[in-house]
Amino acid sequence: MPSSAEMTDLDEVRNYVDGDWTTSTGGEQFDVTDPATGERLSTLRFSSDDEVDEAVSAANDAFQSWKETAVEERIQPLFRLKQLLEEHQDDIARTLVSEHGKTFGEAKGELRRGIENVEVACGIPKMMQAGTLSNAAPNIDESAVRQPLGVFAAVTPFNFPGMIPLWFLPYAVATGNSFVLKPSERDPLTSQYLFELIDEAGFPPGVVSLVNGGADTVSALIEHDDVAGISFVGSTPVARSIYEQAAAAGKRVQAQGGAKNHVIVSDSADIEFAAAQSVSSALACSGERCLANDVILVDESVYDEFRDATLAEIESQVLGNGLDEETTIGPLITEEHEQSVRDMVQTGVDEGADLVYDGRDQTVEEYPDGNFLGPCLFEDVTPDMTLAQEEIFGPVVCLVSVSDLDEALEVLNGSRFGNAASLFTESGRDARRFKQEAEAGNLAINAGTAAPMAFFHFGGMKESFFGDLHAQGEDMIHFYTDKKITIERWDY
Ligand code: NAD
Repeated sequence: MPSSAEMTDLDEVRNYVDGDWTTSTGGEQFDVTDPATGERLSTLRFSSDDEVDEAVSAANDAFQSWKETAVEERIQPLFRLKQLLEEHQDDIARTLVSEHGKTFGEAKGELRRGIENVEVACGIPKMMQAGTLSNAAPNIDESAVRQPLGVFAAVTPFNFPGMIPLWFLPYAVATGNSFVLKPSERDPLTSQYLFELIDEAGFPPGVVSLVNGGADTVSALIEHDDVAGISFVGSTPVARSIYEQAAAAGKRVQAQGGAKNHVIVSDSADIEFAAAQSVSSALACSGERCLANDVILVDESVYDEFRDATLAEIESQVLGNGLDEETTIGPLITEEHEQSVRDMVQTGVDEGADLVYDGRDQTVEEYPDGNFLGPCLFEDVTPDMTLAQEEIFGPVVCLVSVSDLDEALEVLNGSRFGNAASLFTESGRDARRFKQEAEAGNLAINAGTAAPMAFFHFGGMKESFFGDLHAQGEDMIHFYTDKKITIERWDY
């Protein structure tokens, strides 16, 4: 198995098709760089339509026998994959940090959430059962089965390259489908590592494939006749367009989009705890998380106390290379993204919010070429400001003072997004109201980040999600199978 040093020194990012590593001949290229050092790690070519066709055709051939393979046999490579992921997690995490920038601890945490999905998919012999009933009518028994559909593809974002592919891959293959992954071009080396393990785990050739590329590669996947469905995770404009394209092509589709998440801090909250949790939620992975809660709606009666606790948390952050132990905030993924977050901070200032902690001048001495931006804290943010409405995807925290839970829920539900929300309270009554009324798909009470475990679904609402069945757990079984019912009459 390669070390992370070898993985981050690959001349070219490869595809994995029909059980073999291949090099793309696609014309367009993209340099994969270390966001902390600015160093080029590898080069990725955008796979052509012919290369997509090759991968999908091999996946379709493999599907014909994989769907007939006994379920117990189908999960054996997943058990091996789990073991390999456990054994190599430090090297995968180092690879992930080198190309993404998050801290080593965050990378390991992400891999843990990915591994959990492999574990859950190993329970497919039970999860895939669909139900039977004897004497459904006189002398009639009815039984339902779930059957796989063919080749599924997943297109994944840059921010969780170790976890998000595993929201889909284990369930797709455990249910008897074959699967093609198209990871983000910005950090594809984690998937290279994952596929080294997949190669070792013993899936039959073609059951799991990897195709690198960009928007055209994705269109070729969606439009391929042998692709039965597609899972997408990324920004809202692309999610919406994938949903439309896939639906027009008659494919199954689930498309998770961007976010704007809120925390409500009520007057009964444990303020120190709420501040620590909220700041961690907003700043973890440098704010590049779809679950980052960056708008904090604070009850006016506890506002000053909360602001002071938040400021103390922000002052304690350490900007640096994610591989350095003391770092709490790593670099942003690319220079362009760093600039877009800086532009957003400037927009906040221009629109009249009060930048009480300004991390824009922070540098990391050892890494002058990194995409670093220190944390920023805004006060006097109002719900109509860009800061409160648009996804920032950087280390920025926005405080909004509200008079009560009514106002907080009004602001939260006024968002066009609905991915996640948190409430800090000691009141069961407020907690119940939040659970009933908050318009977001992932809710947390007295926790900063609403990240469900793998045996629950993960998905947003409104412009954060297009489709019906979400990622992870049982929803994936429904997404990846068709149900068939048999009615039998046997008179005796
Ligand atoms: P992105 O939309 O730029 O890219 C996501 C994937 O789509 C990549 O693989 C990319 O190559 C591909 N892509 C880009 N443009 C495309 C196009 N025009 N047509 C087809 N494919 C295209 O997203 P990103 O910057 O990689 O990720 C960050 C975004 O993802 C944020 O908005 C974040 O909120 C969102 N996200 C959402 C969830 C969720 O569960 N809702 C989870 C993680 C990230």
